[in-house]
Amino acid sequence: MKILLLVVPALLIWWILRLLRSSSAPVDKPTTPPVENMVACEKCGLHVPEKEAIVRDGRHYCSEEHARETKS
Ligand SMILES: [Zn+2]
Repeated sequence: MKILLLVVPALLIWWILRLLRSSSAPVDKPTTPPVENMVACEKCGLHVPEKEAIVRDGRHYCSEEHARETKS
């Protein structure tokens, strides 16, 4: 029974390695996410697309006004 504890993980690792080699992972591309990333405004909580958000000190804001108001 003890041998199963060695054989099963070994088979799993072999199977995962085989999967990784056969498919060159076309789905996971960290550089370009398919869905637009939404961020919440630190001030009012409004969700805006990340590329349209104002970023101040690593925080996201929906507008210049909110970025300025929270800074003080
Ligand atoms: Zn806001």
